[in-house]
Amino acid sequence: MNKTLKRILVTGGAGFLGSHLCDRLVQQGHDVICLDNFFTSQKTNVTHLLQEPNFELLRHDVTHPLWLEVDEIYNLACPASPVHYQFNPIKTIKTSVLGAINVLGMAKRTRAKVLQASTSEVYGDPEQHPQPESYRGSVNPIGPRACYDEGKRCAETLFFDYHRSNGVNIRVVRIFNTYGPRMHPYDGRVVSNFIVQALGGEDITVYGDGRQTRSFCYVDDLIEGIIRMMNGPDDFVGPVNLGNQDEFTILELAEQVIRQTGSRSKIVYQPAPADDPTQRRPDARLAKAKLDWEPRVKLREGLEKTIAYFRDLDLARFRPPTQGPAVGR
Ligand code: NAD
Ligand code: UDP
Repeated sequence: MNKTLKRILVTGGAGFLGSHLCDRLVQQGHDVICLDNFFTSQKTNVTHLLQEPNFELLRHDVTHPLWLEVDEIYNLACPASPVHYQFNPIKTIKTSVLGAINVLGMAKRTRAKVLQASTSEVYGDPEQHPQPESYRGSVNPIGPRACYDEGKRCAETLFFDYHRSNGVNIRVVRIFNTYGPRMHPYDGRVVSNFIVQALGGEDITVYGDGRQTRSFCYVDDLIEGIIRMMNGPDDFVGPVNLGNQDEFTILELAEQVIRQTGSRSKIVYQPAPADDPTQRRPDARLAKAKLDWEPRVKLREGLEKTIAYFRDLDLARFRPPTQGPAVGR
């Protein structure tokens, strides 16, 4: 086998980010094992890859031990949107913590390099703005978001302890809000929600006063950053922020979606969820300096592609998560 071609495991590989990552890795010729329990995703995200000889799909839950021989692991398995991770919070924290222990154990045994998809949520509702990697965060450990935030924080701790104690070759990326085609239409995330509402002519639901901010990264940019981090030098293990530095209020996003869809939807205001961060923007200088990475796709262009995806999507294939696991067909 060509030495530059690797056996790569992607946990959560059928999800929004995971499926785009699998696309890129398969395209590069690597042997890709996509592992997923389909809690928040559907097989259709990867069915186009099933005919490829270098792609394999495995139904498995990362909270249970894995026994595979691979060279690299991208650990993405975890529900990522508030409605999904709060659906079964105990399962969410198990997925982050037991999932990390299982992939790290496997990396230790096989000497694989392992990358953790961490999150800007480790900064909680930040008092420092924008957020550099050195900021330690402001997380409520007993609130409704804690199952996700603290699970991801604990996973980072595990990664660094396996690195220090066992010499496991790790990478940790902190991903900021990312959007694009293949987001679950009912995951409740702001971009998917607003687009689905606008295309359906429903009211656009802004939570709180809409002045809270987020910075939105298009999926292609993000995947490029993750792959660069995996392939970067071994002495740069992270954590590194990956996200777009253009910051928008949620109200600005709502207006932009209405404009770009040509929708007649009205904006309505609903109560803000508990512990909703009021501001978020990455300090992305480290990624630029170490990986020469910075996002290229502007919000307008990324929304254009995402709107086109949702226009063609058959919503009947998906079940809203509140009625059970958010699986589709
Ligand atoms: P997603 O929900 O589309 O993907 C997560 C995938 O993990 C799904 O396919 C789901 O079925 C799978 N999964 C969940 N629990 C599992 C388990 N116990 N065993 C096996 N598979 C399981 O979400 P996404 O946006 O693609 O997020 C992927 C990763 O990136 C997550 O770890 C998330 O925390 C992280 N992240 C994403 C964003 C973002 O804006 N998209 C931001 C920060 C961090
Ligand atoms: N939000 C909103 N309306 C929606 C969905 C989300 O106003 O229909 C807000 C939400 O309160 C938050 C922001 O948009 O302030 C981003 O929410 P999302 O769930 O996408 O991501 P996260 O809060 O994890 O950054």
